[in-house]
Amino acid sequence: MRTLKIASIPGDGIGKEVVPAAEEVVQAAVKAFGGVEIEFTQFPWSCEYYLEHGKMMPDDGLETLKEFDAVFLGAVGNPELVADHISLWGLLINIRRNFEQVLNMRPAKTFKGLKSKLADPKDFDIMVVRENSEGEYSEIGGRIYQGEDQIAIQSAVFSRKATERAVRHAFKLAAERGKKVTSATKSNGIIHSMPFWDEIFEETALEYPDFKTESQHIDALAAFFVTAPERFDVIVASNLFGDILTDIGAAIMGSVGIAPAANINMNGKYPSMFEPVHGSAPDIVGKELANPIGQIWTAKMMLDHLGEEKIADRLLEVIEGVIADGIMTRDIGGTSTTTEVKDEIIRRLQA
Ligand code: ATP
Ligand code: MG
Repeated sequence: MRTLKIASIPGDGIGKEVVPAAEEVVQAAVKAFGGVEIEFTQFPWSCEYYLEHGKMMPDDGLETLKEFDAVFLGAVGNPELVADHISLWGLLINIRRNFEQVLNMRPAKTFKGLKSKLADPKDFDIMVVRENSEGEYSEIGGRIYQGEDQIAIQSAVFSRKATERAVRHAFKLAAERGKKVTSATKSNGIIHSMPFWDEIFEETALEYPDFKTESQHIDALAAFFVTAPERFDVIVASNLFGDILTDIGAAIMGSVGIAPAANINMNGKYPSMFEPVHGSAPDIVGKELANPIGQIWTAKMMLDHLGEEKIADRLLEVIEGVIADGIMTRDIGGTSTTTEVKDEIIRRLQA
């Protein structure tokens, strides 16, 4: 039988609650379908690990992770114990950068029975492909002069390779969805990098003649994202634009507690990493208030990525079902606990 080896890093805070819950759900789903075996191996790398060892992960941590099919991460960060720039760069960003996880994918959709923040949620179901390796989040820049004359310079970096890679992936995903790709641009204000981005988008679009394509300025796009979401299927965006759009997406869904994300390695050299959008939520730790759906939906994306689409589809179907029936945690208006939501999902998978 096919065995998938997953490195599981619960991390901090509610990560320690929702990761084990999601693992249990995955095992139940796998058992219901058969055909594949999933082996989770736990790694305790976290802020507590840092306090004990002076680092977020061992020196050979990346070597260890390299051998797995995927990394399943909860949340990293506990600012009371360790400064965020140390914990995030020591673990999360360390893995993202070294494993060349160059794309970040975040779906956002509304659910039946879930009160969206939108006045008229209609059919909100969008996938944002965010370029995750360069763009506006570059290390190039600095400060010059002092006092009144001080100047800060921050350069954005757009390579043909990385841009094309993101655009191509957007088309690939759209092929399985609504065959429509929207490119987020701002070439009327950012006159070097964005026309370059547009050019690459238009070139690539020529290879997909039966797809609907459009470029939209990010400001207008952000407004339509909220007021007319049915106009979008897959959106491809630079690092900064994608970051902002996906946070709006999570907000529209109703809670950051249900939003999933995937950091994808495209060259097959390293595992991809799957982590929900939410953080470690120190304010609700230990209270059974953590919504496990973000982590479970994240597991669904991982199964999709590893070629187990049938199990993945079933998982999303069950998630939709429990929400529609009101079995929800407090953040999305319910009264169920983390364990109750998890148990009900497992019960339905076994039924
Ligand atoms: P980070 O910087 O790591 O993203 P953050 O402080 O920006 O962390 P979160 O840790 O995600 O954000 O918490 C933001 C708010 O959302 C908190 O009030 C938290 O309790 C709530 N929250 C986050 N995740 C969940 C969840 N899974 N279930 C319920 N509430 C959540
Ligand atoms: Mg945050």
